[in-house]
Amino acid sequence: MKRYGEFLTAQEDLMFVEAVRKYIDKEVMPVRSALDEDYSVFEKVNRGLVELGIQRRGFAERYGGLGIRSAVTVCAITEEISRGDAGLSLHSLLTPWSLAAAMGARNEFLMDKFIPMFATDTPRVGCMAITEPAGGCNVEDGAERARTIRTRARRDGDEWVIKGEKMWPSAAGVADLYCVVCTTEEDNDEDSLALIYVPKDTPGLSFGKPEPKMGMRVTDVNAAIYFDDVRVPIQYRAGGPGVDWQLFRGNIAWGRLTSAPMSLGCAQAVLEEVIEYTATRSYGGKPVRNHSLQGAMIADMAIGIESARAYYMSVAKMFDNRKAYGGVNEDYLLGKASAAKVYACDVTETVCAKAMELMGSYGYSTQAPIEKYLRDSKIIQLWLGGAQLGRLDAAQSLYPYNPIPKS
Ligand SMILES: Cc1cc2nc3c(=O)[nH]c(=O)nc-3n(C[C@H](O)[C@H](O)[C@H](O)COP(=O)(O)OP(=O)(O)OC[C@H]3O[C@@H](n4cnc5c(N)ncnc54)[C@H](O)[C@@H]3O)c2cc1C
Repeated sequence: MKRYGEFLTAQEDLMFVEAVRKYIDKEVMPVRSALDEDYSVFEKVNRGLVELGIQRRGFAERYGGLGIRSAVTVCAITEEISRGDAGLSLHSLLTPWSLAAAMGARNEFLMDKFIPMFATDTPRVGCMAITEPAGGCNVEDGAERARTIRTRARRDGDEWVIKGEKMWPSAAGVADLYCVVCTTEEDNDEDSLALIYVPKDTPGLSFGKPEPKMGMRVTDVNAAIYFDDVRVPIQYRAGGPGVDWQLFRGNIAWGRLTSAPMSLGCAQAVLEEVIEYTATRSYGGKPVRNHSLQGAMIADMAIGIESARAYYMSVAKMFDNRKAYGGVNEDYLLGKASAAKVYACDVTETVCAKAMELMGSYGYSTQAPIEKYLRDSKIIQLWLGGAQLGRLDAAQSLYPYNPIPKS
């Protein structure tokens, strides 16, 4: 496994990544286009991944998990799955992402309560509910200090009563557990940001219709989530005042870091397609790829992919060395993760566009998978603050933050 070079060296982790690659080659590559249309195909290949251990991957051994927490390994697994299908890769990350707050807070009550239902070989999924109808970026913007959040959790005795609305979360209506980003005060700030868990069958929880969209059509379900006086025990809050804000910042950093390999897996698959197709198509008496003009384009694609991979891997390595680089909730690592996402997504977009140029009409056609990778990868660039807030966060990790003054 040369692709991850010196970054991924732990033998056991390497073996797991190799097993994932084999599974993707054998079971996912042949059904890539069907995955765009048929939920039963998604269920089948997802079940296979779960049986491989993907759902248990991030949990501690005491829960039956595999205990794989290294950011380097998580990124490699993410890229490998995404090389087959980015929506499938996203799906595999939603569960650890939604439980990250409980684990980050070392909240034994919540871990004991919720992890066992996911640390199994029965396919389940979690949901991280951040975005609201009025916007996603402003909730994720650290400079806003959580002030734009409108989903409210009011304390009533031993319960939280949640009222509000989320928009777009992945696995909305499908997930077994929801980590809800909300506020405990009307005049809110970062101390009142709360991460509260809501199990799927809680009264008052309902969902809108799945949103039709350009990519990840079947593999990811996005819908509105309505909280109509949803009651959960007070113990379902991940950390507490101030702590939840830090956990949320860490969640964004992890989400952005893993978005980089998710996007780049698409670019890698597209590059492989181009190399194969341009070997069989000819002009001027030789294969397209053997002309210097096209060879240089292929080289540029590979240079982009390899530099974006080396960059996200170097950031993942920093995530694995908090002593030297600080917490994932701090501006430095959040900025680096944002930069890795921004760069990988830009590279993927260019790679898909150049692949179409190299493959002509066939590249544009739905007979080839290029357009699907382009459709699937575009949203990775847009979510979690998009390319603009990602760039702002990358810049703001270089100099002190400038909070928006309270009006
Ligand atoms: C397939 C898919 C999966 C998703 N998964 C999830 C999920 O799991 N959980 C979840 O909660 N949401 C999810 N989302 C929602 C997604 O994260 C948001 O749509 C995204 O963050 C952008 O928010 P928005 O659409 O409200 O755009 P807006 O926030 O309205 O942004 C519009 C434009 O303004 C810019 N902008 C806005 N505010 C700022 C700012 N403060 N700084 C700089 N630029 C700014 C943006 O960059 C963008 O160009 C998903 C969406 C899709 C389509």
